[in-house]
Amino acid sequence: MATPLTDQEKRRQISLRGIPDLENVHELIKGFNRHLHFTLVKDRNIATPRDYYFALAHTVRDHLVGRWIRTQQFYYEADPKRVYYLSLEFYMGRTLQNTMVNLGVQNTCDEAMYQLGLDIEELEEIEEDAGLGNGGLGRLAACFLDSMATLGLAAYGYGIRYEYGIFNQKIRNGWQVEEADDWLRHGNPWEKARPEYMLPVHFYGRVEETKRRAPNGSTRSNNVVLAMPYDTPIPGYQNNTVNTMRLWSARAPNDFNLRDFNIGDYIQAVLDRNLAENISRVLYPNDNFFEGKELRLKQEYFVVAATLQDIIRRFKTTKKGTPGRTSFDSFPDKVAIQLNDTHPAMAIPELMRIFVDIENSIGTWSAWDLTRRTFAYTNHTVLPEALERWPVKLLEVLLPRHLQIIYQINQKHLDKIASLFPDDMDKLRQMSLIEEDGEKRVNMAHLCIVGSHAVNGVAEIHSNIIKTQVFRNFSDLEPEKFQNKTNGITPRRWLLVCNTGLVDIIAEVRKALITEPAVIGEDFITDLSELKKLNDFVNDKHFLQSIMKVKQENKLKFAQYLEREYRVKINPSSIFDVHVKRIHEYKRQLLNCLHIIYLYNKIRMNPAAPFTPRTVIIGGKAAPGYHMAKMIIKLITSVADVVNNDPIVGDKLKVIFLENYRVSLAEKVIPATDLSEQISTAGTEASGTGNMKFMLNGALTIGTMDGANVEMAEEAGEENMFIFGMRVEDVQKLDEEGYDAMEYYEKLPKLKQVMDQITSGFFNPKNPQQFDDVTNMLFKYDRFKVFADFEAYIECQERVSKLFQDPVAWSKMVVRNIAATGKFSSDRTITEYARDIWGVEPSNIKIPPPSEPLRVDHLTG
Ligand SMILES: *Cc1c(COP(=O)(O)O)cnc(C)c1O
Repeated sequence: MATPLTDQEKRRQISLRGIPDLENVHELIKGFNRHLHFTLVKDRNIATPRDYYFALAHTVRDHLVGRWIRTQQFYYEADPKRVYYLSLEFYMGRTLQNTMVNLGVQNTCDEAMYQLGLDIEELEEIEEDAGLGNGGLGRLAACFLDSMATLGLAAYGYGIRYEYGIFNQKIRNGWQVEEADDWLRHGNPWEKARPEYMLPVHFYGRVEETKRRAPNGSTRSNNVVLAMPYDTPIPGYQNNTVNTMRLWSARAPNDFNLRDFNIGDYIQAVLDRNLAENISRVLYPNDNFFEGKELRLKQEYFVVAATLQDIIRRFKTTKKGTPGRTSFDSFPDKVAIQLNDTHPAMAIPELMRIFVDIENSIGTWSAWDLTRRTFAYTNHTVLPEALERWPVKLLEVLLPRHLQIIYQINQKHLDKIASLFPDDMDKLRQMSLIEEDGEKRVNMAHLCIVGSHAVNGVAEIHSNIIKTQVFRNFSDLEPEKFQNKTNGITPRRWLLVCNTGLVDIIAEVRKALITEPAVIGEDFITDLSELKKLNDFVNDKHFLQSIMKVKQENKLKFAQYLEREYRVKINPSSIFDVHVKRIHEYKRQLLNCLHIIYLYNKIRMNPAAPFTPRTVIIGGKAAPGYHMAKMIIKLITSVADVVNNDPIVGDKLKVIFLENYRVSLAEKVIPATDLSEQISTAGTEASGTGNMKFMLNGALTIGTMDGANVEMAEEAGEENMFIFGMRVEDVQKLDEEGYDAMEYYEKLPKLKQVMDQITSGFFNPKNPQQFDDVTNMLFKYDRFKVFADFEAYIECQERVSKLFQDPVAWSKMVVRNIAATGKFSSDRTITEYARDIWGVEPSNIKIPPPSEPLRVDHLTG
């Protein structure tokens, strides 16, 4: 009998990537050895696995360099309209495997490492995640960069190079404990510092009316922080395009605190450099929550000020630019700036300030016209606690000139509204950029709407809610401004990189089909709608078996990972029921938890009754200051302790809290999932993107009609998802009638039993009051109406268990889901942004590989 293949050997066999060219393998090994020697300064006797990772990373990076330089040269020569994606977060995860896949060298690297006796998967695991994001919003920015490069757009991501990304989560005694994410400790082989492009950013100061620039001039303060750019290459999928993500790092000027009057304390002045450099120290770990800290406002302005200087410089130095004075008339035709939420909103008054104060020749209202035609704004949430409203008092001190510009814009804006709605004070109050009730604040969403030519939501249902509710006044005023751009995910990372087994059988389809008409070529990688051809195979027994086999292999591999890393054993034939995302009340991890307790009670009530085994896996980080979210984690881990150690339960039910959920862990758990939990209260999850990743990787979804779940059901057919619970209209009706949790508690004995157990300390006998804050919330002030969906959820989960007993029916449904994922590629999303918002076209000219010259005909188009 043949010995089973190792993961590494399986990877070498993947058909899609073809047989590696031996010449290339040889060259790669040479490059690897050269880097081990000259870059890492090691030989193979003393090299550590980390040295090997870095040697491989540098070797792969070498393949990027030529393409990177040439792409930028191409943009300079051809001077297409540039797209700037401004975001406080880029949740990139790891880079090595993604780069190998996009460059088409994975197969060569696999073979080279194999020949060197190294396990490439082990090396990949050494790479730190670039965790410069909190959750969906940051990951969206990362997926968009991949798609923009793949579609050949002249695009740039601009953000902050946080020295510490999202914290590492440890679970100690069932509680979340945060650890600093020192991701740069060993160096980052994917970035290139560009100190020659360092730019100054000014804070504080005061506004002064000068004659020359009357009435707008302002003096700049002496409070300067330098912004040092670090560039990361963003390769498109096998198209020789390499775009740039430029992240800014804060540096104190060398004369920091030694300039005006040398007070003589040189040592203290050097120590105080930290104050300036703290700006890029750490990512704020809030997801969907506004915390009005001064340092955060500094971060927001820091990225904006540095980026806009860079954009203006690039605009002025294009090849076609005429020498002498720059005309900015064409600025909106050459520059599109997308604001990822309101976080970079200060870019709007900053561009105004540049036009009016710095460039000086543009009148305020021409500048306003150019500004509005340049910006577009993406809204990511309707939760009121997430909307940024900066106190005027803070802006007055930190950015006085910007505040003045905001007042100026507001005046014009309110004049227009007053003329349209005479004597309607309510309208003025509701639509003002400045909120006057309580502490005076600037409403950043209002600023973005007024300062942009396009405003979009991130799924149909969410875009409708912002149009008809949250920003209703604004959309009544300018309906054509409001759009929808349903989110997407990149199929490269979320299929090609993370699920080679599934990719392989999609390619097997191609092989099996030589004699049949429908063929799935490799086109699905850049045209995900091609996957709909899989529908032809839903009755193909062999294909269904392959689908089930790949899932089983992924489940086993994940189970082995859990056992290796956490010493937990799970039942690989159970339903892997996975709920991973940031911990938030609106995402309703509590609803899942109540279901777990219900299942536990059901088993205990009748241990002999048939039961479909489940492993419930919940993971996600709680913002460190979010008390309720941390209590939810503690409740889940406490329930897990009881359930997992009850001999009556055996391996019918297991509960795992997955520590430190992040991009690289998502890539492991999602392909191993049977059931994806997407159970937010209808109307609260703007889109969700986790939902799409699971669908693409052959999980079925249990979910509410919220966010992009609605469109997933539309694409796959509602009968192919487990949809349950209140719709948005039901939630609103309940709000009007008044939601009374107690009604459900008294009406539903199963719910009553579960709640009574939590309240009585069943899951924490040593401290029975432990969860009072949670139960109080659920009973008295639950904004997200957990109890109202309890019964429907339980019932729906029973349908899940039942279907899982029929593997053929289950896998048919899986195939129908995978086949329906085409819409959820971020390539589709970006194509729509390009066409409807940015006014650019995906380029169909392919930049030639570095071995061929860049010719003029590559430049026209
Ligand atoms: C995709 C992703 C998210 C977003 O998940 P949602 O379920 O849409 O909230 C959060 N974190 C990580 C690490 C992700 O990859």
